[in-house]
Amino acid sequence: MAAKLLEGKPIAEELKAKIKAEVEALKAGHNRAPKLLALQMGENASSAVYVKAQKKSAESLGIEYELKTVPDSISQVEAESLIKSLNNDANITSIILQLPTPKGIDAKKLVNLISPEKDAEGMHPQNLGKILLGQYKIGPCTAMAVMELLESTKINLYGKEAVVVGHSEIVGKPLSLMLLNKFATTTVCHIATGERGILPEHVKRAEILIVAVGKAGIVKGDWVKEGAIVIDVGINKVGERIVGDIEFEGASIRASHITPVPGGVGPLTTTILMRNTVELFKSQNER
Ligand code: NAP
Repeated sequence: MAAKLLEGKPIAEELKAKIKAEVEALKAGHNRAPKLLALQMGENASSAVYVKAQKKSAESLGIEYELKTVPDSISQVEAESLIKSLNNDANITSIILQLPTPKGIDAKKLVNLISPEKDAEGMHPQNLGKILLGQYKIGPCTAMAVMELLESTKINLYGKEAVVVGHSEIVGKPLSLMLLNKFATTTVCHIATGERGILPEHVKRAEILIVAVGKAGIVKGDWVKEGAIVIDVGINKVGERIVGDIEFEGASIRASHITPVPGGVGPLTTTILMRNTVELFKSQNER
């Protein structure tokens, strides 16, 4: 394998050390810590794993963490009034709505109701708009994690050919704006690109390739440009194995850097959630 492995864990550890020091200073200055509240509606196995990881990470950094669970019988109206009351609770400085929400709950409407000042995942339209304007300190965790991975390579994105495959609201779209803000020449591919059969054409040009689709092996190894930096966001279960969206073996012969799956983007996202929480606390206390 020619490529250097871009692992998320060491970068997460570096970020955590900075966050921990910052939390200590904030506590000393404000006599209280940032507090993240996770709202979980009903029971869900995958969400339970995330919640456990969030609690562990928050507590290791000195951030207060509270899990609020409500039954899956909660109505939309009740959920909306709960979010409003959390917005008004001065002890809570940051809120995350765990997904998926129960049937009949409009999760997007709830996310939009979380105060942008307490929006731990950076998914409120106002916070997404700030990315467009290049004026953001918080953002969607996965997109921010990809930017950290790119930064760790010390690559100057200015003028580079960046290709993002996938245009979801949580990954591809915000990421493409973040890359544009760095003056990368950014192409975004999506379902229509795939349907026209021109995905290989775009991928082959990429000096920076980021794939966030959720289809194992959708990007073939021999499409990867020699020397490209390759970030695979995809998580797919194939038999007993977890694999990404890119054929790792073939791609790693050609790339200069490549993320493993698992172990690339994933280990960074919870740390970014904590950094968002700290940044929100700072801006709440700046006024
Ligand atoms: P998503 O909302 O399903 O978005 C997938 C995107 O891929 C969509 O924009 C879709 O386009 C596009 N797409 C589908 N088929 C395509 C094709 N043949 N050619 C080109 N584009 C195509 O998924 P997501 O939430 O962004 O997640 C993507 C993957 O990343 C999943 O495997 C997910 O598990 C993983 N993920 C990992 C992390 C992590 O921490 N590592 C975090 C979040 C997500 P249309 O919308 O037009 O159909």
